[in-house]
Amino acid sequence: MADCLFCKIIAGEIPSEKVYEDDLVYAMKDIHPVASTHVLVLPKKHYENVLDFARNGDAATALALNKAIAAVAEAAGVAEKGFRVVANCGEHGGQTVPHLHYHVIGGRNLGEKMVF
Ligand code: 5GP
Ligand code: ZN
Repeated sequence: MADCLFCKIIAGEIPSEKVYEDDLVYAMKDIHPVASTHVLVLPKKHYENVLDFARNGDAATALALNKAIAAVAEAAGVAEKGFRVVANCGEHGGQTVPHLHYHVIGGRNLGEKMVF
């Protein structure tokens, strides 16, 4: 999508700290990390959010996203202790970049409270 920040990053037009890539998925460090591990995992194809992906996405990409999340967690060394996966959706969900992405956050105990 021409005007999308994350599409431009995937295309290499804007730099990012890549941590994982395959045919369907790209993952990079968040520019404003909230923990020592904070990675964004996104499909290379543009979907606005989880609703758009549910309507228009495909099973291969859904599985690739889940596998990428696991690979990122393993590579970051947070898989054993645990981590959090977050997908903000729309205005009330606090989504600021309208290209589907999963936050993978870890490296400290995030506690049991979901909203902080
Ligand atoms: P959202 O609020 O949409 O769930 O998350 C967007 C995330 O993208 C935020 O955590 C923000 O820090 C991150 N972000 C915004 N612009 C950039 C950028 O240019 N590069 C990277 N790597 N992350 C970005
Ligand atoms: Zn996009």
